[in-house]
Amino acid sequence: MAEQLATSHHDIVIVGGGAAGVAAAIAARRSGLDTVLIEAGPFFGGELVSGLPIDGCLNAQGEWIVGGVARQLFDAVESAGSFARAMSDYRQMWAVCVDPEMLKMSIIEALAEAGVNPRLYLTSQDVVVRRNRVEGIIAVGKGKRYLITGDVFIDCTGDGQLAVSAGAPFEFGGRAGELQPVSLTYRLTNVDYREYLDWVAAEPDLFLLAENPALGYAGKREAARAARDGGFPFVALDANGTVLGDAIECGAMDPCTALYLWPTSPARNEVGMNTTRLSGVDGTNPQELSESLATLTAQINRCIDFCQKNIPGFADARLAGIAPRVGVRETRRVVGEYVLTEEDVVEGKKSDRGVAKGGHHVDIHGEGTAQVRRAVNDGRSYDIPYEALVPKNIKNVLMAGRCLSSTREANGSARVMGTCMATGEAVGVAAAMMVEAGLRDVREVDVSMLRSRLMADGAVVDGTN
Ligand SMILES: Cc1cc2nc3c(=O)[nH]c(=O)nc-3n(C[C@H](O)[C@H](O)[C@H](O)COP(=O)(O)OP(=O)(O)OC[C@H]3O[C@@H](n4cnc5c(N)ncnc54)[C@H](O)[C@@H]3O)c2cc1C
Repeated sequence: MAEQLATSHHDIVIVGGGAAGVAAAIAARRSGLDTVLIEAGPFFGGELVSGLPIDGCLNAQGEWIVGGVARQLFDAVESAGSFARAMSDYRQMWAVCVDPEMLKMSIIEALAEAGVNPRLYLTSQDVVVRRNRVEGIIAVGKGKRYLITGDVFIDCTGDGQLAVSAGAPFEFGGRAGELQPVSLTYRLTNVDYREYLDWVAAEPDLFLLAENPALGYAGKREAARAARDGGFPFVALDANGTVLGDAIECGAMDPCTALYLWPTSPARNEVGMNTTRLSGVDGTNPQELSESLATLTAQINRCIDFCQKNIPGFADARLAGIAPRVGVRETRRVVGEYVLTEEDVVEGKKSDRGVAKGGHHVDIHGEGTAQVRRAVNDGRSYDIPYEALVPKNIKNVLMAGRCLSSTREANGSARVMGTCMATGEAVGVAAAMMVEAGLRDVREVDVSMLRSRLMADGAVVDGTN
């Protein structure tokens, strides 16, 4: 007997409920259109709720370059009495450090308040395409298959799964197919912020400080003093310094570029930690991802032991939580009508087709202790043209987040979560405009009107350095 699929139709279908997808859904729903958000996991937020600091919301001059839904979520976390604060890392950039537990709550509340139709536990498997239009997706969840049809589709899967299944071209990793390592982030509680910061001020050469002249510090010593006076431990211990470097050399620590840490909850004396890495893992391969977990958790245990024994302020530190999944930095980049380049990023290029902004440095992690970092000139921001969110070959699909159309180097900047939320918001509004006007092709969207609508909603698309 032929299988009967459970079927539903929606104005806007968004696949992937991470940084980009959450912003896209809330923005699209502002128009009152029927918007469904499909997410494979049991929770919305993707990497956004892993505890990582949200980069790319401010440029290195400390100027906000992302507004709209992102600011709405940070404000909600703060209004709930929790922690969300923009701050410098005294090295390269500014970021928003946030309590991920309260952010999880705020995302759920914001989606419900907006009236987004939530579909967790559903993985989009396949697409139904006719004459370069996606008519529906086939999704599977809890052993059941669903046909979800729509007018406009948005790919926020990070991996470009929807756009690529529908026929869009893509690139994968570097020239030889190499990929950035995967990592498992975690949080430690019982950390004495003050003791750590006093150590930073006393031994600035051990830390990654004052790399970016746009931050305005004369040198490491001045940056270290500013960090101590700021009161929040957002300073990374350098793998080239003796303490971490020696530990890596003698095998007490696994190879990493630095011990990245940042505040997640001063009330819980808690920091987020990004110290693990494993190369050679394909983030689109479930088996490789699953097998990587045991190696990454072993790295976490070794790092906690190292911190307790060697890092001032960490003697009583204890594990508070690990990210809900292995973090994937790089897989597919969908090729769109415009390809964002490293030159666009580094030169801080502006465009009258810009619908979102980025400001994070080019940041490509390699094997072991390798990492490429290239700052945006003068700590400015760059514009992401609408066409970088329009996949080639398909008429009714937009994309946002990590899979946007970009060279590998540009993606090393634009993949950060602030920028993902900004691109998500932009395509959410663009999709709503399409449905409202009955447009058949995403290329027909009036970009100057889209920019005006985004600005009216509080997004930042103009007027920054
Ligand atoms: C270890 C690590 C450290 C990082 N550090 C930082 C940092 O400090 N600051 C920063 O801003 N950024 C950082 N990044 C980058 C950033 O976190 C990601 O690039 C960004 O979150 C990507 O957002 P996204 O919305 O595109 O994808 P994601 O957040 O990955 O969301 C995609 C969602 O789509 C879902 N999905 C995928 N396929 C399907 C499908 N077929 N059907 C249904 N659902 C699907 C996934 O389950 C997921 O929830 C880091 C990344 C990693 C891995």
